[in-house]
Amino acid sequence: MNDTSISVDQHDGDLARVDVAPVNAKEHRDLYKSRVKIFPKRVSGSFRRLKWWIMLVTLGIYYLAPWIRWDRGAFAPDQAILVDIANRRFYFFFIEIWPQEFVYLTGLLIMAGVALFLVTSTVGRAWCGYTCPQTVWVDLFLAVESWVDGDRNARMRLDKSDWTFDKIRKRGTKHFLWLLISVATGGAWIFYFADAPSLAYGFITGTAPTIAYTTVAILTATTYLFAGFMREQVCTYMCPWPRIQGAMIDEHSLIVTYQEWRGEPRSAHLKTKPENNPPAGDCIDCNQCVAVCPMGIDIRDGGQLECITCALCIDACDTVMEKIGRPKGLIAYSTTGAQEQAETGDYVATNWRAILHYRTLIYFAIWSLAGLAMLYGLLARDRLDVSVLHDRNPLFVILSDGSVRNGYTIKILNMLPEPRTFRLSLSGIVSATMYTAEDGSHPSRHVDVDVPPDQLRSLRVLVRADPAYLSGESTSFSFQVREWNEEISRGGDAEQASYEAQFLAAP
Ligand code: SF4
Ligand code: SF4
Repeated sequence: MNDTSISVDQHDGDLARVDVAPVNAKEHRDLYKSRVKIFPKRVSGSFRRLKWWIMLVTLGIYYLAPWIRWDRGAFAPDQAILVDIANRRFYFFFIEIWPQEFVYLTGLLIMAGVALFLVTSTVGRAWCGYTCPQTVWVDLFLAVESWVDGDRNARMRLDKSDWTFDKIRKRGTKHFLWLLISVATGGAWIFYFADAPSLAYGFITGTAPTIAYTTVAILTATTYLFAGFMREQVCTYMCPWPRIQGAMIDEHSLIVTYQEWRGEPRSAHLKTKPENNPPAGDCIDCNQCVAVCPMGIDIRDGGQLECITCALCIDACDTVMEKIGRPKGLIAYSTTGAQEQAETGDYVATNWRAILHYRTLIYFAIWSLAGLAMLYGLLARDRLDVSVLHDRNPLFVILSDGSVRNGYTIKILNMLPEPRTFRLSLSGIVSATMYTAEDGSHPSRHVDVDVPPDQLRSLRVLVRADPAYLSGESTSFSFQVREWNEEISRGGDAEQASYEAQFLAAP
């Protein structure tokens, strides 16, 4: 048998030794080496159950989230999560983000980055092993493959067998189901960018925009390719994270480890167990841990770039230990610090306190502060924005009665999904009056402006002032904008903003 061949254990589920060459042999790291097919064996145990639950929750969120409705009134979309590219808006339940507020999305990305650092420094590559989309979809595709083709041995036999009717039927069923999942994956993605029910109807009836069909086609192809064929190669060769995480894991981080001090010298023969001579470790070299590994590696070779810490080898080995009457945990979550201690004969079982060290606490503090700052910013942010532009030509006009007039373009942005009236007034120049270009006949100290929901209203305002109250060529004053309605006029709270401007006159 050469290094890359895989032989079949005849009885799935028993302790027959599985001859399997891990793909992390030295050649695997050469510049190029053709892929060795991996046929992960089914396994049961607490980590496998946890992974099923996480898959259920993450896929459930991904597929169903665009269908959740959220009432924002008559003037805003009722989809809870929506990236409204046409109107340049992002909706997330009660939060509405405008283009000028993308700093919050930057904040969210920073928080996600710090969270990834936090998780990696505490529980290693838990993201990779449990929640990364590549892991989740590969797991789903493997579940389909194993349901259609059978467990590891059956799949290996089928792979090597000639093309018979049964093989064609099984391959056809498997690829059909994979494609179905891939289309559903691509399909779910586009619903985040438009009203899901309307887009679904348009998509089915062939009236959806071309970009929707193109996106679904691309995502269908990438899901099918990445989860069905490339699998572990995406993690090993395409994703930068395995390299980055190497710098983040330290002697306190929980990672999946083989307890070498306890397992070695390994022996495939039960008769050489410790009580016999020569003494042997607890590892019976059954290779079950390798057979279940979706990355095709042998955790007994130590920490490896390919290991996504999915912990399935823990489940496999615990089952073996149970069967041979040895304590569980020959492969377990542990820290490299604990392993080093164990080599000196001072092993202490790792517990949850291991994750409490200064790095994780610092990451947690940064993450919490960023989260609190974001929350405060979101709750306290203005829903009104005002900008003012002074006329460039002419800068001012001297009227027949000697007064001076300046023109301004004022933009009032109503960032609430309801119509609002704003009272625009002047402050800083005694006796100054103003009027809008459309309503020049009523100079006043204020103008009421109606702004439709979620919209910007632009108006030209002319301000007139007596030179006696101006301070030379340029006089500072401000435009005050205040929300205005009956309740506010009776003393209710109002949102307001002001804009500092200059009134220009002859020297
Ligand atoms: S570590 Fe456990 S599962 Fe792996 S070969 Fe040894 S006994 Fe078998
Ligand atoms: S070695 Fe174990 S934890 Fe690592 S990828 Fe393989 S099964 Fe998962």
